[in-house]
Order: sequence, then structure tokens, then C-alpha cells
Amino acid sequence: MRCPFCAADDDRVVDSRLADDGDAIRRRRECAACHQRYTTFERVEEVGLIVIKRSGDREAFDRDKIFRGIQAACKNRPVDDEVMAGVALAVEESMRLLNRDVTSEEVGMATLEALREVDEVAYVRFASVYKGFEGTEDFAREIGMLVKTTAPKLRG
Ligand SMILES: [Zn+2]
Repeated sequence: MRCPFCAADDDRVVDSRLADDGDAIRRRRECAACHQRYTTFERVEEVGLIVIKRSGDREAFDRDKIFRGIQAACKNRPVDDEVMAGVALAVEESMRLLNRDVTSEEVGMATLEALREVDEVAYVRFASVYKGFEGTEDFAREIGMLVKTTAPKLRG
């Protein structure tokens, strides 16, 4: 950090604390050359979430795109726009929590998982597009898995 008094580029931090409800760090610095003290604020930059596509291309995560995919899967199903927006947001949040670039496959899987909780028909539709179903056996297999995973567990 360049000293605002003498322009020397040598300082030490004498105090650091969170500011702005934790969104910034306030540092008290002392210039090693002239010993004047000054304050800096550091802010975390909103980091863009990058999606790596199958082709290897990278693009910014687009929540609207996820929302449109969910909307298509939920067509004519009793699912509110608000719920669909919630699914898209949950997908984005789960991807951001990974704290790294994500693959389009991970985004697709997360969307699929979230949809399963919302509407089973929408889930199978999304799976058919996402997993590239080619025939009725693919649907049958997926629905079979769905029945297995959602059936109540019997005790004893
Ligand atoms: Zn100085």
C-alpha cells in the first residue's frame, strides 16, 4: 500500500477489523518510512460463477437460463413461478458454495435433484432432456429409480 503522506511503499498493519456488517475489512496501517498512520478499506469483489460446458467453453452462470429450463420441465404442471425461481436460486447457491468453477453437468445434476423435490413429472421431463433419453426404456428406468428412491422405507 502506497503511503498517502510520503508515497513510500512500505507499511505495516497495526489494526484490522470488520466493517460494514462484515462486508469490508478496515485496516489501520503505519508507514515504515514516515510513521504516519492511515486507514484502508478492503472489499471482497462479487465473484462471478463460471460454468464449464461440455465443449470446454466457459460462460458466466445464468440463473435465468436455469429458470427457463425448469419452466419448460414444469409446463402444465401445478408449480408456481415462485417455486421455480426458488429452485433456480437454490441451484445457484449450491454451486456458489462449491467455491470453484463448476461444470454444466454439476449444474444439471443439482437442478435435477432440486426438481425431484418439487414435481416428479417435471423431474422426469428434465431428466429426459438432460440425460438425453433415447427410448421408452430410458423413461422406464428413470421412473423405476424415482419410485425406489421416493418410496417410504419400511421398518422391521
Ligand atoms: Zn509515509
